[in-house]
Amino acid sequence: GDSDVGSSPLPSIPSIAESKWNDTASFAKKKSVQAWYQLPDGNWELGKVISASGTESIISLPEGKVLKVQNDCLLPANPDILDGVDDLMQLSYLSEPTVLYNLRYRYDRDMIYTKAGPVLVAINPFKKVQLYGNEYIEAYQRKTTQSPHVYAIADTALREMKRDEVNQSIIISGESGAGKTETAKIAMQYLAALGGGSGIEYEILKTNPILEAFGNAKTLRNDNSSRFVGWVGWGSGVGWWMVDFGCGSWLAGLAGVVGLGGVARLWVRGLVGLGGVVGLWVSGVGWLDHGLLGLGGVAGFGSVGLGGWILGGLVVKVVGMAVKVVGMVVKLVLAINMMVGGGCLVVNQEWCKWLKRRVVSNYTIAGVDDAEQFRNVMEALDVVHVTKDDQESAFGMLAAVLWLGNVSFSITDNENHVEPVADEGKLAFVALLFLASVTLLIGCEVKELQLALSTRKMKVRNDNIVQKLKLSQAIDTRDALAKSIYSCLFDWLVEQINKSLGVGKRRTGKSISILDIYGFESFDKNSFEQFCINYANERLQQHFNRHLFKLEQEEYIQDGIDWTKVDFEDNQACLNLFEKKPLGLLSLLDEESTFPNGTDLSFANKLKQHLKSNSCFKGEREKAFTVSHYAGEVSYDTTGFLEKNRDLMHMDSVQLLSSCMTSLPQRFASSMLVQSEKPVVGPLFKSGGADSQKLSVATKFKSQLFQLMQRLESTTPHFIRCIKPNNLQSPGIYEQGLALQQLRCCGVLEVVRISRSGFPTRMTHQKFARRYGFLLLESVAAQDPLSVSVAILHQFNILPDILELLRIQEIAHFMAFYVFKAVSEAT
Ligand code: ATP
Ligand code: MG
Repeated sequence: GDSDVGSSPLPSIPSIAESKWNDTASFAKKKSVQAWYQLPDGNWELGKVISASGTESIISLPEGKVLKVQNDCLLPANPDILDGVDDLMQLSYLSEPTVLYNLRYRYDRDMIYTKAGPVLVAINPFKKVQLYGNEYIEAYQRKTTQSPHVYAIADTALREMKRDEVNQSIIISGESGAGKTETAKIAMQYLAALGGGSGIEYEILKTNPILEAFGNAKTLRNDNSSRFVGWVGWGSGVGWWMVDFGCGSWLAGLAGVVGLGGVARLWVRGLVGLGGVVGLWVSGVGWLDHGLLGLGGVAGFGSVGLGGWILGGLVVKVVGMAVKVVGMVVKLVLAINMMVGGGCLVVNQEWCKWLKRRVVSNYTIAGVDDAEQFRNVMEALDVVHVTKDDQESAFGMLAAVLWLGNVSFSITDNENHVEPVADEGKLAFVALLFLASVTLLIGCEVKELQLALSTRKMKVRNDNIVQKLKLSQAIDTRDALAKSIYSCLFDWLVEQINKSLGVGKRRTGKSISILDIYGFESFDKNSFEQFCINYANERLQQHFNRHLFKLEQEEYIQDGIDWTKVDFEDNQACLNLFEKKPLGLLSLLDEESTFPNGTDLSFANKLKQHLKSNSCFKGEREKAFTVSHYAGEVSYDTTGFLEKNRDLMHMDSVQLLSSCMTSLPQRFASSMLVQSEKPVVGPLFKSGGADSQKLSVATKFKSQLFQLMQRLESTTPHFIRCIKPNNLQSPGIYEQGLALQQLRCCGVLEVVRISRSGFPTRMTHQKFARRYGFLLLESVAAQDPLSVSVAILHQFNILPDILELLRIQEIAHFMAFYVFKAVSEAT
């Protein structure tokens, strides 16, 4: 490393390169040892060293192959006795192949969790594993098992929250499809179970299907991919510390929880939402791209914003059989029936233009029963007390969004002005039916909707004038209206959930937050959504780095502890590429978005012009550019960037919604107005262009991300890294290369190295004195925390070198480990 700490009494930590088997010859002579050999394809194989000389060895590989190899292609293997250890820290030889082997050894035995020092590594099993449920929960509560587990992490967080009176966070990261959301649910399960599995904590679990239904989408990477940030808080104002004194269940009082904005459960829609657009919409769903469906790679369900299954449940199945089951979706059915002229039950995605444009091959998911999932959602809506009327309206809104997609325009004059009516020469009444369906569902007149979609009211000097829209403007307006309705619907659902959980009632007390965001994404084509998602992941990675590498090491150095720095992949340069002002990706995007004549191409050219010397940036052909992310290179296509970043909401649309006879659109309209930062164009402004004072989507995204990070910074983090063992979403397949790439980019090896040579526990003198002071048999003359701490250590015969360490600084760190040992031996 680049450490300037000077000579170190602690063992120095070899880098990966250094730990290569320099000493093969002497080592091999001792006995016939096992070694890892790297095949030309990069994979590692376990072999036996038969003989070794200075630079070369002869090894035998499986299947009887015998090879003469360079010693630097070899790495020592651990003795069999270390096969499948719980914590990578226990490995004698720590290297990429030994870590890979250990994880695989466990994975093959359904032990999907492994500790990497302080981090829990979770490998997605892509099948049901027998590791969950009450029996396991109890075992972790009673500490009758030590195996690494999400439950164990949740338990630790809980204990530390009570012990240190500090808010805790469980931060789950990993690529798309790695298992973050499942892991978050497992952690919630543990916390919920502490309350006995009924009541409000149970309700929280029950809300998952709603949020997943509306906030997830099927993508090429994950059949149930989150398109929003989940941030769930747990805590209580009343009881937790009662448990500390052994009286009663603290979860009885659970609910008040701190999340963003002090709510119990807040799903940070904006983060996904990319500025008023729920993830789904934005998630690369083609329809936003005016037919460039190929973009993004998110399946279309996405387009409706329903998790893959709801679509199935709602549109396909409902119409056939579930009509009876789900009476409240009559409006949807009505609309469908209207569309097909009444009575036709053969309705599928083909009827909805937006649903037809999809990137995944279909909307169904093997092994998932759409109808059942749909029933779960309906049940969950009951659990959170959404009335039947509101449920009906909510589905009405969904249907309206779908039918909006079918509204087409006909050009009325030679200036390209349009009217929303006839569908490219087809019978005008069919097109009218789409319009009529929408108006029926949202509760307005056909005329009003037609006007809102084809004209714009503007104020020029003191006159109100009505401008006719051109085709592309009309399409933008229609899409923006649909997005807004969907986005407001999602917000509204979150609000209903939080209300029913009693959020908003003021509570004090500490909390545990669970953070689950959309994972890093890299498709063949990546758009604005991937750009935002990957930027968020970059930030989260920085948080991880800061806590596990930077802060940890800086603290040692600050406290005067000799320490040889461990290098890690710092992603600061990539963050700078995004955030630097004025010449960073985000600033340049915002700048170009405010230019009336800015285009995706001019934006791409500007990037190439200003960033060509940045090592994390590469210009590509035409509208594309590449960013070197911590998790790999991603090539972005700027098509649609500017429009998505501007995300204009027209005043006419807001007015349309507020004039509707039904309650949801009215509520949506007022919440749109309240979100004052939202770019609204229309009569309020002089021209039809964006008001440059208003925040862009990217800027809002960034500020929400910063808020989130700020919240995280005030908590004690517990990290879980999810690893995806294959891209096929299949059980039993462990691709070394894929796993390795993920382990590398999250720095698992380095974390283990640091933890292995670092200090497992630390606390300030104050805290130590307060906590263990009562153990003192004789009172101490000086009452300052350091003297008390020293006296405690003396009393328990703690090693003198630890005392030395203690004196280094007022707030020195030391290995409380010994103290715990001594205390537990003494008591
Ligand atoms: P994204 O970033 O796209 O939201 P994610 O990391 O949240 O992805 P999940 O949706 O949690 O990924 O997991 C993808 C799929 O993997 C799940 O739908 C499930 O089938 C499987 N899976 C993940 N974790 C587990 C587990 N512990 N047990 C069984 N299956 C799992
Ligand atoms: Mg997820």
